[in-house]
Amino acid sequence: MSFKFQTENEHATRQAAQQLASLLPDACWIRLDGELGAGKTTFTQGLGKALGIQRAIKSPTYTIIKEYPLQEKRKFVHIDAYRLEESGADTVDVDLYRHDNVVVIEWAQYIEESLPESYLHIQIRYIEASAREFSVNVVGKDEMLMNLCEQWQQEIQKGS
Ligand code: ADP
Ligand code: MG
Repeated sequence: MSFKFQTENEHATRQAAQQLASLLPDACWIRLDGELGAGKTTFTQGLGKALGIQRAIKSPTYTIIKEYPLQEKRKFVHIDAYRLEESGADTVDVDLYRHDNVVVIEWAQYIEESLPESYLHIQIRYIEASAREFSVNVVGKDEMLMNLCEQWQQEIQKGS
């Protein structure tokens, strides 16, 4: 299951993230790829806000991992693996976050071997000043994620 969509401005990107947030299960990994300025953090902020986080979500570049509490034990976990390029993957124990968390990871290529078997992969491509293309696909054979992906696509088509 994979699909693409385009957003014409920052607001549309936040809205797409909000639509995804309403479909997320208790535990889920979302891998965000895209060059600097593509919109990874903007998308993450949209997700976090829709999940009810009131604190400002900034890029965790200097901390690598930031956690925001959701309901009960559930957390929203924002990982930025950029700085792990040099230090190596074992500086972050991503296994800690395998269950009951919504995990968003940027620069996952630096800890590829630590990723779960299945996750939602979103690649953001810069088109022009305010337009971005999103390519969404499910990595691994996870039926729940594939359904989620289909529902998200339908939501996005409704709104455009
Ligand atoms: P990244 O985290 O990928 O480096 P950011 O989300 O920090 O990127 O920055 C994206 C920048 O691009 C922001 O300044 C945002 O306002 C701008 N922008 C313009 N158009 C869009 C769009 N369609 N979607 C997301 N961001 C956009
Ligand atoms: Mg960022």
